Amino acid sequence: MPNTFLAIGECMVEMAPTGEGTFTMGFAGDTLNTAWYARKCLPKSWNVGYFTAVGCDQVSDQMLEFLAGSEIDTSAVRRLEDRTVGLYMIQLKDGERSFAYWRSQAAARRLASDADHLDKTLAGAGLIYFSGITLAILPAAERKIFLEALRKARRAGARTAFDPNLRPRLWEDAETMRACVTEAAGLCDFVMPSFEDELAHFGDANAKVSAERYLSAGAQMVVVKNGPQEVICATEGSQQAFQPSPVHSIVDTTAAGDSYNAAFLAEFLTSGDIKASVDAGARLAGTVIQHRGALVDCLEPA
Ligand code: ADP
Repeated sequence: MPNTFLAIGECMVEMAPTGEGTFTMGFAGDTLNTAWYARKCLPKSWNVGYFTAVGCDQVSDQMLEFLAGSEIDTSAVRRLEDRTVGLYMIQLKDGERSFAYWRSQAAARRLASDADHLDKTLAGAGLIYFSGITLAILPAAERKIFLEALRKARRAGARTAFDPNLRPRLWEDAETMRACVTEAAGLCDFVMPSFEDELAHFGDANAKVSAERYLSAGAQMVVVKNGPQEVICATEGSQQAFQPSPVHSIVDTTAAGDSYNAAFLAEFLTSGDIKASVDAGARLAGTVIQHRGALVDCLEPA
């Protein structure tokens, strides 16, 4: 397997408030967060890449510069003349954060529109990482192209990892979301859901039920995260529960799951040791939630 970790999805411009009517610009997105942490966790001998589509304008250039500055390979990113990147703004009212999104025309929605380019990009990957948001933003016909490319890459030896990240508002309807997420999970070596989402949108009684459901769909290994509660790791015929260490001073849980996935996968891909992988995930997520923001520079590069 090539030492290439390729994350696929949408990176957005983030406008975060710095004062009354002033904002600072950053870049974020679930799969990007995982790529960013994977880069920190994996040895230098690994290539960590991000695949998406962006525009040809200045803000798209800045996004790619940000990724390159984070040592994430952007060589496969598609550039589209007629689109730009999506944006969200964080607003604060009485200490509570709310989010406004401008992403319906984002270039990333077309990331799978060129099937040949997608096949070539996936062909070089050892581990392909994507999420339910990656699927949600695609037009229905291009989801099929994406899943077909994944099948081909897998037949050629790539491994696949998927966080269902269920966000019904991004999908045309909840039934389509559940069906497509289940199909995608069936094509994956690692399915890494958060129980809170699975409870809300599949009505699972507990995390073990979520794990069983994804194994029945065809997943090889399921890792169900559940905030401060036990993580369930399941493969055909085996289920283990791991209790994360308590974290007392939680500041911001943004990217808890994204960082967990990165550290778990980085450890598993290099050692194949489940206990060490679960510990690595909990250690990183436990640190990330003690800081503000999605991307927390809390690790020395491996
Ligand atoms: P998501 O961000 O996807 O909702 P979770 O909330 O399930 O993800 O959390 C992912 C991981 O982050 C957990 O498995 C755990 O290791 C860590 N974590 C999250 N919340 C807490 C908490 N309150 N106490 C300790 N660890 C936590």
